[in-house]
Amino acid sequence: MLDFLNTASAECVLEDAIKNRFAGKIALVSSFGTESAVILHMVSEIDKSVPVVFLDTLKLFPETLAYRDELVARLGLTDVRSIQPSGKQLAAYDPDGRLWQKDADLCCAIRKTNPLDEALEGMEAWITGRKRNQNASRANLQMIDTGADGRTTINPLAFWDEAQIEAYFTRHKLPRHPLQAQGYASIGCATCTALPDGDDKRSGRWAGSTKTECGIHMPRAHLAA
Ligand code: SF4
Repeated sequence: MLDFLNTASAECVLEDAIKNRFAGKIALVSSFGTESAVILHMVSEIDKSVPVVFLDTLKLFPETLAYRDELVARLGLTDVRSIQPSGKQLAAYDPDGRLWQKDADLCCAIRKTNPLDEALEGMEAWITGRKRNQNASRANLQMIDTGADGRTTINPLAFWDEAQIEAYFTRHKLPRHPLQAQGYASIGCATCTALPDGDDKRSGRWAGSTKTECGIHMPRAHLAA
């Protein structure tokens, strides 16, 4: 989709999406992970009132919540929406909080995908910080793409590499996620995140299983409750 846009700068694609193409109908979805500060900073430089959706699964590291608060204050973001899973779905499907051990896909649907879909109601597009080099399923990612939910996704960093991320952090003096110093590279729920194995940054996510994505970028499995 719109392949020619892959040659535009991340900032240009972002500004066009926020101010023109999807004005008032776009949100940034952020995990406030180790590289999230880059896209959060870019958005804050364009419009600090763009909605930022943060999925608080109730299983996150406390350090991630603290980092969210630090970045929001630092960047002056004014519309951060911390979304939690439905109490009704938790009671129906995960009453003991251990569903992640038995059915991780269902757990992600309850704690991430369904809350995200509700949060994005009325939006035509969402911004992500995904990159092609993160894993095989993202290898063909376009800067402007179509998400599994049918909305347009804006992926300004699709073609960025690690050196560009590092340079951006340095240039803008952005704070680091507190767990990065301990060796964590890709950070999700505390229950499902381990230290990475070697250079593969996402290898610590759902380590020991074949699962590589939480499901927000995959076809939906909607639940009854
Ligand atoms: S990452 Fe783990 S705990 Fe978090 S929603 Fe998915 S399965 Fe559940």
